[in-house]
Amino acid sequence: ALAIAGSDVAGLDPEQLTAIQAPRGPVCVLAGAGTGKTRTIVHRISHLIHSGHVAAGQVLAVTFTARAAGEMRTRLRALGIHGAQARTFHAAALRQLRYFWPRVVGGQQWDLLEGKLRLVSQAAHKAGAGSETEVLRDLAAEIEWAKASLVTPDDYVAEATRLRRQPPVPAEQFVSVYQLYESIKTRASQLDFDDLLLHTAAALEEHPLVADEFRDRYRCFVVDEYQDVTPLQQRVLDAWLGERDDLTVVGDANQTIYSFTGASARPLLGFARRFPHATIVRLERDYRSTPQVVSLANRVIGAARDRPAGSRLNLVGQRRPGPEPAFAEHEDEAAEAAAVARRISELLDAGTPASEIAVLYRVNAQSESYEQALSELDIPYLVRGGERFFNRVEVRQAMAALRTAGARKPTGDLPMLVRELLTPLGLTEEPPSGGAVRERWESLLALVELAEELAATVEGADLAQYVVELDMRARAQHPPTVEGVTLASLHAAKGLEWDAVFLVGLVEGTVPILHAEGNDAAIEEERRLLYVGVTRARQFLSLSWAIARSESNRRPRRRSRFLYGLIPEDHPTSRLTRARQQAGVAPAQCRSCGSQLVGAVATKLGRCSSCPADIDEELLGRLKDWRAKRARGLKVPAYVVFTDATLTAIAE
Ligand code: ATP
Ligand code: MG
Repeated sequence: ALAIAGSDVAGLDPEQLTAIQAPRGPVCVLAGAGTGKTRTIVHRISHLIHSGHVAAGQVLAVTFTARAAGEMRTRLRALGIHGAQARTFHAAALRQLRYFWPRVVGGQQWDLLEGKLRLVSQAAHKAGAGSETEVLRDLAAEIEWAKASLVTPDDYVAEATRLRRQPPVPAEQFVSVYQLYESIKTRASQLDFDDLLLHTAAALEEHPLVADEFRDRYRCFVVDEYQDVTPLQQRVLDAWLGERDDLTVVGDANQTIYSFTGASARPLLGFARRFPHATIVRLERDYRSTPQVVSLANRVIGAARDRPAGSRLNLVGQRRPGPEPAFAEHEDEAAEAAAVARRISELLDAGTPASEIAVLYRVNAQSESYEQALSELDIPYLVRGGERFFNRVEVRQAMAALRTAGARKPTGDLPMLVRELLTPLGLTEEPPSGGAVRERWESLLALVELAEELAATVEGADLAQYVVELDMRARAQHPPTVEGVTLASLHAAKGLEWDAVFLVGLVEGTVPILHAEGNDAAIEEERRLLYVGVTRARQFLSLSWAIARSESNRRPRRRSRFLYGLIPEDHPTSRLTRARQQAGVAPAQCRSCGSQLVGAVATKLGRCSSCPADIDEELLGRLKDWRAKRARGLKVPAYVVFTDATLTAIAE
């Protein structure tokens, strides 16, 4: 009979059990969304501990977001496991570094970098590389990419050329900014997030005593969402492991959505090659979503190009049938947001809890119309994505009040104390009915819950410690959980699930994002992002878009190319497209991927700019003409997009 220590085998399938019961050593679970990967690793940890193979304190589980790490801790606690660590790579490194630093570097103290953009701005100023916020953001992102990819300033030019990267300023100038950024930061004894990882890896690689001590303490490693590991994180992981191989990884190559940070699914897909004796498990049963949602997810990802061998998995839905996914086209973004808010209010009335509903979008700026629309209907919500929580007026006021109170050293029960101090700011006993007042109340309550959490984990925690914890969280942009409808970016939704999910803003230029245009790999990543979004829904899924931005900006927009083939035949918007075709209005869709076409070239080819096409003599002539013009810096029609495919065609 199958038996696993510490938990019930019910609710685990044979493949999941294979991974859970595998002996200590390398294990890899390659599987699609909702197949129970995270559940499997939590049970594996529990099984290894309960069967005495490893002590709870020797387990280190890492994942990529604070929320995911928190969920893993909760799930472990539910299985009776205490003392196993589940953290993000950064949080784990921060802790280790604090511990090892005095021995590795000496007495000198360091601080986490605050105000990264300000530092980049200083560096950019010195290097004469511009001062616009946009450029500074891009410079910061490029520095992050370089560090996460283990590319030093010395290597940058060669690597950037090899990978055809386009830094926001010329490569040589970028190197100066990068170098200056590093030197200003070092002089101020500050470390950025990537430094935490770099120094942790270096401490273990260069100091055998530190490494011995660490490896004696931690013996069993687990990584969730392994498809998005960066070379820097992999280096830390290798430093943790040393010569050992007690590593369990789980991931889904179809959910690789952080390539822009240097992450890649290569370590996941190459796991079996690196550890030939590894236990490899594939899961195909989808336990999260209704068959309707699963079928849509399969179609979204089935259309992907160049799927690596390890990622061709078909999900088989296990749940009872539910409603068909809803598709809706709207006049503009405000109308879209209002419709979504109305639908959410209906779901709430029907008994779905607010915390089981999410609105997911491509870029954080999209949250605003939804915040407004939800506020109008008095629906509580929370915006994921960090900084906002700590920027809220009431949170800033609360932190100031707590700090003041914490300096004179009041005693007593910490959560009670915090509650008393926050009452004057609006933390009434009963929740107010809705809108801004309710939201304020929710944030204050979240601060009390955080105090409860601290009091439960650290014995004798006082107000001063609590304020330090809050400061740390604010700096790491790690907000506490607030009750309400979740507003989050698709990136931030990874690994999570809700009963009802609204995927909004599905227009060309947003999904896929504008700057992915003309870059096949980037377009594919956008498709995976939609796949991640679709697979977050348990029961109810809505996909919507607006054909204009606002009442004042009616410039027509096209719905996302990824929706092609997903919208049912009898849907009003499909009928509209057919009517247009029958009326002889332009062949609307790409013959290869089905996205809607704009511009003479695309229409002539019957292919969008990212699909390969047969090009006839006449068109070839025109394309060559345009290319020559563009090379001379002359204007070409805006709709002429030169992709690799067209350029290759011209070259031949
Ligand atoms: P993602 O790729 O999105 O991170 P995942 O593979 O990690 O997904 P989980 O979050 O572990 O999936 O599981 C998805 C849902 O299915 C969860 O609600 C989980 O409790 C449930 N589940 C997993 N395995 C089983 C099972 N054998 N029986 C019933 N429910 C299961
Ligand atoms: Mg998961």
